[in-house]
Amino acid sequence: MTAEDQGRVLVVDDDPDIAMVCRLHLELAGFDVVVVGTGVEALEACRDEKPDAVVLDYMLPDLDGIDVLKRLQGDPVTAEIPVLMLTARAHARDQAAAWEAGVCGYLTKPFEGAALVGAVRDAITNHVDVAARDARRVAAIERLRIDDHETSRQAAAILDGAHDAVVGKTLDGVIVSWNTGAERLYGWAADEAIGAPITMLSPTGHEDEVTAVLARIARGELVLPYETTRRRKDGSLVAVSVTVSPICDESGRVVGASTISRDISERVRDDERMRALLEAIPDAVVLVDADGHIETVNAQAERMFGYGRELLIGERIEMLMPVRYRAAHREHLTRYGHKPWVRDGAGLDVTGLRSDGTEFPVAVSLSPLETETGVSTVATVRDVSELKKADALYRGLIEAAPDAIIAVDSDGRIMLANAQAEALFGYERTELVGQQIEILVPEASRAKHPTHREGYFREPRTRAMGEGLDLVARRKDGSEFPAEISLSSISTEDGLLVAAAVRDVTERKRAEERFRGLLEAAPDAMVIVDESGRITLVNAQTVALFGWERDELVGQPVEVLVPERFRSMHPGHRRGYGRNPRVRPMGTGYELYGLRKDGREFPVEISLSPLETDQGVTISASIRDVTERKRAEAAVAEAYEREREASTRLRDIDRMRSDFLSTVSHELRTPLTAIKGFAEILVASWDSADEERKIEFVERILNAGRRLDHLIEDLLDFSRLERGQLTIVLEPHRLLSLVEETIARAGLNQAQRTVDVDVPSGLWVKADRTAFVRVLENLLTNAAKFSPADSIIKVTAESLGGEIVLSVRDEGIGIASEHHERIFERFHRVTESGNLHPGTGIGLAIVKQFMEAQGGRVSLVSEPGAGSEFRLHLTSVG
Ligand code: ADP
Repeated sequence: MTAEDQGRVLVVDDDPDIAMVCRLHLELAGFDVVVVGTGVEALEACRDEKPDAVVLDYMLPDLDGIDVLKRLQGDPVTAEIPVLMLTARAHARDQAAAWEAGVCGYLTKPFEGAALVGAVRDAITNHVDVAARDARRVAAIERLRIDDHETSRQAAAILDGAHDAVVGKTLDGVIVSWNTGAERLYGWAADEAIGAPITMLSPTGHEDEVTAVLARIARGELVLPYETTRRRKDGSLVAVSVTVSPICDESGRVVGASTISRDISERVRDDERMRALLEAIPDAVVLVDADGHIETVNAQAERMFGYGRELLIGERIEMLMPVRYRAAHREHLTRYGHKPWVRDGAGLDVTGLRSDGTEFPVAVSLSPLETETGVSTVATVRDVSELKKADALYRGLIEAAPDAIIAVDSDGRIMLANAQAEALFGYERTELVGQQIEILVPEASRAKHPTHREGYFREPRTRAMGEGLDLVARRKDGSEFPAEISLSSISTEDGLLVAAAVRDVTERKRAEERFRGLLEAAPDAMVIVDESGRITLVNAQTVALFGWERDELVGQPVEVLVPERFRSMHPGHRRGYGRNPRVRPMGTGYELYGLRKDGREFPVEISLSPLETDQGVTISASIRDVTERKRAEAAVAEAYEREREASTRLRDIDRMRSDFLSTVSHELRTPLTAIKGFAEILVASWDSADEERKIEFVERILNAGRRLDHLIEDLLDFSRLERGQLTIVLEPHRLLSLVEETIARAGLNQAQRTVDVDVPSGLWVKADRTAFVRVLENLLTNAAKFSPADSIIKVTAESLGGEIVLSVRDEGIGIASEHHERIFERFHRVTESGNLHPGTGIGLAIVKQFMEAQGGRVSLVSEPGAGSEFRLHLTSVG
């Protein structure tokens, strides 16, 4: 077979041994071979020589193998040349990248000569099994995907201890990590969640939200923390605040996202507390959703309409209206239902329907309430029968009045009493009429009553009796009850009568008591403020929190609790709230502060709610001291920061370790390839090769063996150091002998490097022989590695005040000062020079520690471009 038959191959490898092995293998098989050592030369050679195939090393001193491949593909002259990638790097990511870039084959060092020749032949004759190649390509890319999952999983695992739910997922939304916080919050165990789509946490119909967020993360956008709702395993919803951050792989590529979610239902619980307050409102309250279904009612509503709440909730609001109004109301709701409106009760006179079929007039106030599910309506319903019936009294319909009505003449004699009065006081009507009104007054106040009565007759106007006093009425059986009495005058033919409408307010008092009880039981400070901004009621927590006594506060403008600097704007805010009162947190987005009596300020969270009372709309503010929480939040934020830093550090170390492993394998494979290759060639060409050639091959094998030996020594030293198993025996040695021994060991002469030695033979040092030789060997091989082949390495020594300084100088690339300290750390390598000259990054770490173990040290003088000088400071003997 002639060279022309087989074709021409360009071998690109910066390692002369590997390049030579490839060349010899291919030449033996009849190929015409051209060898170059850099990417730029490779591009040129491809244009000039038009090879039929290229064997390309992955790592080149100037360009990356992938770069070379892409440039070849970008040039029409070279685009069609098949490229076979040759590498000592076994990382899945590198393989996947090579396949994606379009190599026609991938060979890992060390390889058999036959494998190389076969792959090149296939590439040229196009006998590549396309299906098999695609399968390998898919497998490589799949492995990469698994690696990505692994990266995301590790990142999230670091946060596993966190309280919050930490969920990691890939960019296409597959859950890859799930910490215990997530188990607690969402109810799925980690093994159920991992592998499932992240959309399982979305409430039905809201799946787009997470996909949109992932898309933004993938584009590298920043996603600010936000609040949303998530679905638990049991289908329930939970309010959460969410922080999303990208997860990147070692090369900085975004491969997934990690979400930290925090349960914020506590805030939602505030609503529940308000619901409890609703119960305390003396009026009936019905909460209606946007579609007209009853969501909730308070006890007063149950009592007013005669239904238990279980019969009301979920039903349509129209069930509380007479049949004749229902259709119209429903239509009204469909038309206006979704608009939030507020209506004052006075304007809305409607009729209510009780469970027993009776109708009664009611006044309804409507106000909107924003909830998670939309805008609901709070309907406050007041039974206005009594008002209506007072009219009826005038019209002679007194019997229908719900209140007890008693009319009295100017002498205090009862002229008239209705059925309710009979029922309320326990007297027959006949027993009442003609009696002095004082029989209905408790004995304690009886004596004063006629005077009050006469006073009213002198100035008769409709008003409540005994304003500001707690009135008490007396039944026939002597029992007493709290009463609310309103007085009005009626001119009749018999002269002026005074009609007293008496209402038993036992229930209302009880409700008020309950309200106060509730107020006291509330965990927060509660301050109730009237329309003019004056405090009307506070609970014990307020006293404790602000340091004022109750009676010092009641009647004061609420601004006494506000720090001076906010005071002037507060009334404006207050009026703003009065125009649109609804349950909401105060000053959303602002830091709020309270002011204690002693002038100290503290951070607070305030939730406001309107409270309709007999005195009009008052505002109830529930105030929580959040000093502790702020402190805790700051502590949590700090802890997060620390965790984040720790995780970054861990990832750095992890990355260095993984780089280390891949460079170690590279470092092992390269000399191994040379040994195997030369040995194979030697065997194949034993008869034809001349003596000189054979010796050259054996010497190369020897050199590669030395390189392996050096690496293994490094690794063993390193592992001994890591385990603290170093034994040092300090003995006197002639320095020159040590230096000469080391130079021979390092094989620098064989590598044709000139080493200039100027060490006075009279210098003796105290050292551990093995450790010293390892130190110097490392410095010498580095000097050779990082300097041009034709430059000189100088080893000099001098005695300097008790210590002996041995210096190793090269004329190489030098080291920038910012690396001077760090290159002595394990795994640390200067990236630019590291790419040029593969290595493990442990050599100088060994140098430093070995020197220190011998009671000496190492120092460095170097500048980029000006060579490097490493100095060993040793203890002198004598
Ligand atoms: P390795 O040589 O295996 O990378 P070392 O710990 O011996 O590991 O060296 C660490 C780094 O220090 C090297 O990667 C290189 O960047 C830099 N370095 C060491 N010696 C020299 C030198 N003589 N000239 C320039 N750079 C050097």
